[in-house]
Amino acid sequence: MKTSVERKLTISVAAGKGGTGKTLISCSLAQALVRRHPGAVQVIDCDVEEPNADILLRPEITSREDVSILVPEVDLGRCTHCRKCAHVCEVGAIAAIGKAVLTFHDMCSGCGACAYVCPTGAIEEMPLRIGELAHGTSPECIDFHHGRLDVGHQRATPVTNAVKAAISPDMIAIVDAPPGTACPMQEAVDDSDYCILVTEPTPFGLANLREAVATCRRMDVPCGVMINRARNAYTEMADYLDEEGLEVLMSVPERRSIAEAYSRGETLLGADDEWLDALLQMYESIAEAVAADAATPSA
Ligand code: SF4
Ligand code: SF4
Repeated sequence: MKTSVERKLTISVAAGKGGTGKTLISCSLAQALVRRHPGAVQVIDCDVEEPNADILLRPEITSREDVSILVPEVDLGRCTHCRKCAHVCEVGAIAAIGKAVLTFHDMCSGCGACAYVCPTGAIEEMPLRIGELAHGTSPECIDFHHGRLDVGHQRATPVTNAVKAAISPDMIAIVDAPPGTACPMQEAVDDSDYCILVTEPTPFGLANLREAVATCRRMDVPCGVMINRARNAYTEMADYLDEEGLEVLMSVPERRSIAEAYSRGETLLGADDEWLDALLQMYESIAEAVAADAATPSA
């Protein structure tokens, strides 16, 4: 969490399920904020299994770099078959069977424990590429970063952490989190000043919102709700928000102009400039909530 006096917030945008418009809101908010804070807005796309904020922001990518983890390579000539490596591995990525030691790199987290416990130095740690970072700048001068996990790899966390390392204390960072509430979402949202939870007014949206709210609260990340594709009143969701004391930060209706803009690869600002004020107002509400939270003495 950023702590400078002039707070430039890190705001994550998450959703309990995919397809709710999370990336649309992230990119719309960033485009609105950069008009008010030129050159001081970042988008950090942490949806590393399916990053697509670049489609809406169209950054010119100026650099790419590999994300690698260190995985074990066993020199059987030095192995005494003690099996300590297999016993210490919590994810079953190394197995000692008879005179053989098998490694399963797609399951390995790169923790290094097996090499550490090996009594003969038979395990060497070798870099294995699991993904890529890309950095660029959008036409509006949004500082853009995304991570992409390579096909066939399951360990999103190192890629998420690598892309989050680009967050600058001098910029407002909008973190586009992966959908759901499992580890990848939690890694993305962790350390945010605030999390916008995007939902839609349906029973599915409500069920996933409950999970997302519980996750943010367990992580001690303050959150508010943004309702996308608002059609008609959905009493159950209104009751839930009331019961939980959750603020509705903004509501975006189901509207043809928005759908058409999205189909052209444009954000809410491409649909109508009326959204500029609404998005900036949402940021102001969040900044006030964060400031009030910081001023409240902890129990
Ligand atoms: S580095 Fe860690 S996760 Fe990978 S095989 Fe060794 S102990 Fe298992
Ligand atoms: S810990 Fe080292 S010596 Fe023991 S089985 Fe594993 S590789 Fe072989």
